[in-house]
Amino acid sequence: MSYQNFSLKQLQEIDAGHHLHPFTDHKELRAVGSRMIVRADGPYIYDSEGNEILDGMAGLWCVNAGYGRTELAEAAYEQMKELPYYNSFFKCSTPTPVLLSKKLAEIAPANMNQVFYGSSGSEANDTALRVVRRYWALEGKPRKNRIISRKMAYHGSTIAGASLGGMSHMHEQLGGAVPNIVHVMPPYSFELAEPGESEHDFGIRAARAVEDAILEAGAENVAAFIGEPIMGAGGVKIPPESYWPEIQRICRKYDVLLMLDEVITGYGRTGEWFAAQAMGIEADTITTAKALTSGYQPLSALFIGDRIARTLIDKGGEFFHGYTYSGHPVACAVALKNLEIIEREGLVDRVRSDTGPYFRKTLMERLSGHPIVGQVRTVGLLGAIEIVADKETRERFQPSGSAAVKVRDHAIAQGLMMRATDDTMILSPPLIWTRETIDIAAARIERALDLAAADLG
Ligand code: PLP
Repeated sequence: MSYQNFSLKQLQEIDAGHHLHPFTDHKELRAVGSRMIVRADGPYIYDSEGNEILDGMAGLWCVNAGYGRTELAEAAYEQMKELPYYNSFFKCSTPTPVLLSKKLAEIAPANMNQVFYGSSGSEANDTALRVVRRYWALEGKPRKNRIISRKMAYHGSTIAGASLGGMSHMHEQLGGAVPNIVHVMPPYSFELAEPGESEHDFGIRAARAVEDAILEAGAENVAAFIGEPIMGAGGVKIPPESYWPEIQRICRKYDVLLMLDEVITGYGRTGEWFAAQAMGIEADTITTAKALTSGYQPLSALFIGDRIARTLIDKGGEFFHGYTYSGHPVACAVALKNLEIIEREGLVDRVRSDTGPYFRKTLMERLSGHPIVGQVRTVGLLGAIEIVADKETRERFQPSGSAAVKVRDHAIAQGLMMRATDDTMILSPPLIWTRETIDIAAARIERALDLAAADLG
């Protein structure tokens, strides 16, 4: 059945009638109808009306190798012909997760030598939570099970993922979160720094909120701290340089494990394979997904550091945990080919040495002076633009979030897909963007900001 036999209106009606979308108000969706994305190539997506849109979000932070990679389709096809599925339970394995694990251990930080697969970042974080709690239980400290996270963090949508995350609107709908998870302030200086407080001092203060939470609970009750190296869905919040070293010091001092969520930052976005390497963070677990396959197949990989792995393996016996699709042969074949492409084309190095710095320079030069821009910040090919009504006082437009939605809608009409989170515009483009693509994107954002500013009076 080809979608081409249906008009856009028919597809929208069926969509509104039967398809529940993630994070969507369906009454609103029914009123406007979905934008139907029908194909994609390189850095572009195309909708059913033939509009070509530069994808500033790499899908949902995942299509790092860009669209139209026939090599990835061929890798999936070949694997499906040979062995479409077999599980990795009951002392069985299949070759592609074996080879992928070897590759991942090579590119990950030195202490990350074990990988557990799932199909999504949420599943990987569920696994991470179970793993750290099991670790402490096996070490004879079952009460050391509290997790410290941050407000505004996003760690997924399963009950454990949403409980680990710090989105208050998600917690309100949970009907009971996973117990013993607490949330402290995020390292978001743009809104939370005191007047006159330096970035350095703010970073230390934000990290000390974790120490306060440990002291309040008693270190003997705290299993781990979890954090995205750069908070993504919460608004690309880049912490001050002082933040992570202080977190590391605190975790070591109280023997609290460090869980990194690199579902967005993993696989090149920051200019290193992992943000842990770019930012010098030594973690005990690292959650990854999304760009592992550039989104061509659903796959997550939870790295488990040597310290935890030794205990799980030597003392743990069977760990009663696993997913039907753990180590899915097709997803792993695609991941292997995807990493090969990223490596062959030098995309990670290019972000570090060329496109990342150029992205920063261009956005800073062209956008930071705009009357409704309060701040531009970037790391690698990850960027945020704060929308404000007043540059000096950082006062926002009201109602909260409305101005950013206007900028986003104008940007899409100009041919650039970007995202609005509260009052922050977000960019997370494919790593194949060149200097020229960055120039095109910046011009479209500039125009979208002008048009939104005119609307806002
Ligand atoms: N962790 C982070 C940092 C994410 O950004 C996301 C998704 O955006 C997740 C976890 C959840 O991943 P998934 O949507 O694949 O379950």
